[in-house]
Amino acid sequence: MKSIALFGGTFDPVHNGHIQSATELKQRLSLDELRLVPCHLPVHRASPGCSSEQRLAMVKLAVAGTPLQVDDREMHRNRLSYSVDTLESLRNELGDQVSLSWVMGTDAFAAFDSWHRWQDFLTLAHIIVMQRPGEVLPEAGPVAQLIAQYGTDTVEPLQQQAAGAIRFESLTPYPVSATAIRSALSGQQAAEFKLEHSMAPAVLHYIQTHQLYGYQA
Ligand code: ATP
Repeated sequence: MKSIALFGGTFDPVHNGHIQSATELKQRLSLDELRLVPCHLPVHRASPGCSSEQRLAMVKLAVAGTPLQVDDREMHRNRLSYSVDTLESLRNELGDQVSLSWVMGTDAFAAFDSWHRWQDFLTLAHIIVMQRPGEVLPEAGPVAQLIAQYGTDTVEPLQQQAAGAIRFESLTPYPVSATAIRSALSGQQAAEFKLEHSMAPAVLHYIQTHQLYGYQA
């Protein structure tokens, strides 16, 4: 069965933590495709620091030369970017004989029961949770119940079923965040923060050229 995973995010801006983790995940789970899905109008956070088009342009630059792809369907919906709508749209396009997964970090998954139509999620896709050291999951409540019911210790469900499993993957930690990058770009963080080690050179160049996030040459 063909397997496609979607990794949604604000990508404000996209950085090496996103790209390295997504690349490792694709290889580890032998996924046929892993697509980064920049959200247009984020639901769970403040408006991004630059336009949707600019975030999309940076994601396209970042995936060049990697085994990753970009899915820009959320940019074409002029309303809040609900992940469940994105999954539904892709499921309608691909039919039910493809394994679809939604990738998220533990932080996002811990609050998963606040997501729009979260109960419909596992009928449309699997969930892959990227775990980073020190992150804890709820031990009680709806998310804990979901893990108990749908969590899988093996990768087979992701390869053999279209949807319905939750898989945890501990990936190599890559300690960088978009927040730290934005504050370094705006000069609020010490100069020793190495921007060129945190993001693709083409993305940094794009930010500098367009003077995003308060960057000044
Ligand atoms: P911000 O600092 O603005 O909150 P972010 O760097 O966390 O941004 P998002 O676009 O919000 O980036 O992240 C999208 C997804 O990428 C989230 O699920 C998040 O858990 C994950 N992610 C963010 N940084 C890393 C990293 N360094 N390594 C692995 N995954 C990451």
